[in-house]
Amino acid sequence: MAALLNFSSHCTSSSQTHPILPTNSIPEISKIFTNNLTTSSSSSSSSSNFSKKFPKLKLTRSAHPLRKTYISNHALKSSQPSISPEKITSQEDEPLRIGIVGFGNFGQFIAKAIKRQGHSVVATSRSDYSEYCQQNGIEFFGNIDAMCEEQPDVILVCSSILSTETVLRSIPIHKLKSDTIFADVLSVKQFPRNLFLEVLPSDFGIICTHPMFGPESGKNGWDALPFVYDKVRIAEKTAQERKCAQFLSIFEEEGCRMVEMSCEEHDRHAAGSQFITHTIGRILSHLDLESTPINTKGYETLLQLTENTVSDSFDLYYGLFMYNVNATEQIENLDRAFETVKQKLFGRLHDILRKQIVERVPLQGVPQPKSREVNPTPYFLPNNEKMKDLSSFAMPPPPTSPTQENNDGVASQPKESLKPGRDNLVKH
Ligand code: NAP
Repeated sequence: MAALLNFSSHCTSSSQTHPILPTNSIPEISKIFTNNLTTSSSSSSSSSNFSKKFPKLKLTRSAHPLRKTYISNHALKSSQPSISPEKITSQEDEPLRIGIVGFGNFGQFIAKAIKRQGHSVVATSRSDYSEYCQQNGIEFFGNIDAMCEEQPDVILVCSSILSTETVLRSIPIHKLKSDTIFADVLSVKQFPRNLFLEVLPSDFGIICTHPMFGPESGKNGWDALPFVYDKVRIAEKTAQERKCAQFLSIFEEEGCRMVEMSCEEHDRHAAGSQFITHTIGRILSHLDLESTPINTKGYETLLQLTENTVSDSFDLYYGLFMYNVNATEQIENLDRAFETVKQKLFGRLHDILRKQIVERVPLQGVPQPKSREVNPTPYFLPNNEKMKDLSSFAMPPPPTSPTQENNDGVASQPKESLKPGRDNLVKH
């Protein structure tokens, strides 16, 4: 297994103020809520942190302005219990303009949901996706400067983990509004959090997210799929806070189970779950597993896991390892666990053999030879070739000469043929 795993200041400013409604408008607001919004439990797990924090006010799914009201209220509940409702609910939120940086597999996948939720998408990437974008109502920019001139409300970084630092440092932040929100979807979280805090001006909002699904696992919808987020730096009682809530509502409206969690905690959990899953999938892919006429459910799951894992880029997998401080420990745990299982198996086999060889206990269900003839192949042992790498397997006592008995009365074979394996084990 060890061998197996050894692979293994910105210029422009957008002053977005909150129009404040007179306090006597509160009854009006509550009427709007009563008439147009219904409180319901989430379609996803109502036990999620997000749902507990923000009792869901489900829209009757028609009036867009009211949806905006909901979103604003959502922002209020999320982190500002003291902010007065009239300040936020009076705000008419326009749909967001979201700039996706890195328009590969995942960037395209997430853009569809953003558009479904009524927001506009502009995109840029190393490769040219202008044709795809044209067909899907997305404005594509061949260079990042041109995209930033569009001044998106949110810059959503969807580049590979490995390229993110280079990509982020290439963004002309002076072209963006001073309260722009930077978000990411990287499968590791401490790294982009620290990078954003290091590189971005202090007015910029930061929200780190990880949708715990991808184009394969989320192809039939996002209902109840976990969406992890950490509002690393969002200015309170500002338009930035509202836009952050608008952004998060995209995923909630798609049915995701919203999980607010620190980046550190995410990385700890993800190493013990997602990284292990990808590692097992990668190992299995080296076995070239094939479907058989007698697949068990478990085996079908393994085949599916292998397929899902290898559909992601190796860059992604390497990023999970290299950019998560907990990954090395997990890969070592996995290595140890495999050794333990092997030792249990071969330890038991060793005991049986010792009884057979030393204590002369006959094997159950195996006919005993009538004479002291050599039984060349105890039926349960793997062949010589398969056994040669198994360090924990005990070898039988050394022979003295061909077909001659040694002092213990065990028939011997030539020395050169002595390798651990069934061909070398004899039975009397
Ligand atoms: P990926 O291989 O991790 O990333 C591909 C993206 O990175 C493409 O947009 C590619 O741009 C860009 N890229 C790669 N190398 C680059 C470089 N040297 N310079 C500039 N851009 C570069 O595959 P992915 O599945 O699309 O994942 C994208 C992000 O989403 C990753 O951070 C990943 O962790 C996260 N994520 C993925 C999943 C998933 O299931 N796939 C789920 C959740 C989160 P071009 O296409 O223009 O070459």
